[in-house]
Amino acid sequence: MKHGLIMLLVFLFACTTTFSQNSVDIDGRLQPILNDFLDDCASYGIETNEKLFQLKKIDISKELPLEENNTVLGVVTRDANNNVENILINWAAMIDPEILKIVAYHEFAHHFLDYKHTCQDCNEIMAVTNSNYFLIAKDWEKQVENLFLTSPAYLAKDSKEGLAASSF
Ligand SMILES: [Zn+2]
Repeated sequence: MKHGLIMLLVFLFACTTTFSQNSVDIDGRLQPILNDFLDDCASYGIETNEKLFQLKKIDISKELPLEENNTVLGVVTRDANNNVENILINWAAMIDPEILKIVAYHEFAHHFLDYKHTCQDCNEIMAVTNSNYFLIAKDWEKQVENLFLTSPAYLAKDSKEGLAASSF
């Protein structure tokens, strides 16, 4: 009887530890955009579960710089061991829902699609700076298609499948 109780406690403890390791703190204002992004990943056959649970937080931040010549609208942060930790979006990006979505997709793509930047300023989602968010928003479907089809994660998946097929 006593043994059974201890086993139950061990089991419950195991459940709680597993649970805490498998939770990501996601800001409710970013959740719908993340859902869309993960849906897009699924439709391009890109696995996201492991990368999602590497993160601690996907959050709106009031601490990111917002000054002339020093504005960070979003960032993927790393811990002291260089492991990915949080995706943070500057509160200022919430000034417009389209801007918020573009900035969030940009940061999500850094993490989930292994993206570096595509250019300095070229009105693409992965440009370092976007001088015209309106042009990207207007062309959203095409922008997203291009983002996924040319992403390192998608290209790596393709070459892996190619390799599997040829070794077969
Ligand atoms: Zn970036």
